[in-house]
Amino acid sequence: MRHEDIVTYSRNVFLPVSNICRNRCAYCGFRGRPNNGGWLLTTSEVLSMAWVGKLCGCTEALITTGERPDFFLSVKERLREWGFRDFTHYVEHLCKSLLRLDMLPHVNLGVLSKHELRRLKRWCASMGLMLECATPLPAHAHSPGKTPAFRLATIEAAGELRIPFTTGILVGVGESERDRMFSLHLIRELHDRYGHIQEVIVQPFEPKPNTPMHAWKPPAWRTVLRTVRAAARILPEVPIQFPPNLLHLYGFFERRVRELLRAGVRDFGGISPITPDFVNPRAPWPSAEQLRAAILRAGFQPRERLPVYPCYVERRWMSAEVKRIVDRISDEAGYRN
Ligand code: SF4
Repeated sequence: MRHEDIVTYSRNVFLPVSNICRNRCAYCGFRGRPNNGGWLLTTSEVLSMAWVGKLCGCTEALITTGERPDFFLSVKERLREWGFRDFTHYVEHLCKSLLRLDMLPHVNLGVLSKHELRRLKRWCASMGLMLECATPLPAHAHSPGKTPAFRLATIEAAGELRIPFTTGILVGVGESERDRMFSLHLIRELHDRYGHIQEVIVQPFEPKPNTPMHAWKPPAWRTVLRTVRAAARILPEVPIQFPPNLLHLYGFFERRVRELLRAGVRDFGGISPITPDFVNPRAPWPSAEQLRAAILRAGFQPRERLPVYPCYVERRWMSAEVKRIVDRISDEAGYRN
């Protein structure tokens, strides 16, 4: 099997610890506010979801949250009552508990300082932050955390700390083609410097009801494919990922998978047998069997991976606590055994 024919995915349980967010992105249907659709899951709620995921064969505990929920006083006070200094401290505690279940945390908390990344690194297999777009956009006018310089600084700090890192761009949120290329080139520069970008997501915009951008259309399929081709050209050694549940926007699942693979996609991200995509709840995951069959029929080889990619397993970019689990559930090539 040639390495370039391998197409990966992971099995995850999606743990939306909090949807409370200091930002207000114009396309977001996930965000809530305290007392207005916002939630903060307790440790037992998170761990019971993770248990079910483990029983269903998941290895990845995907923690995705709004940015800095503790920006709001009521959240800060609740966390203090639970014994935590801040939200990052709470997530550290959750990750530690998830490792005890043999689940590997991959966290996306938004913009973080180097100090926060360092605290989390010990308990996480990998982390992520979508760059989204390296130029300011009207959709981010009320989102301080979407300031490109802050996001680039987080991605850079992760590189300095040798954290296997996921990033990516959004397509169709008001950016130009030039903006997309600029973003991809900046990711390329950071990866050249630190070698830590394990995958780059090309994610199409999906309109959400009750958001300022509800009437916008998803990007054209040809734009998606052109962006994937460009990403694969600019970052040839980094797997390009497309979220397979968002193929519901375009129909013809198998044909789209084949076209994406021909354009250069080599990863379909985390798919969950038990939890929805809380950020895109109208986009159902394909099953692992459906995805594997589509990959095989396109002439490629599906492989299940962990939330940390094989090359970082080989380089041992992980703490002793994470390595203990990775060694137990990976094969000699660093994929899921
Ligand atoms: S997209 Fe993310 S950062 Fe923006 S408002 Fe929603 S949860 Fe917050």
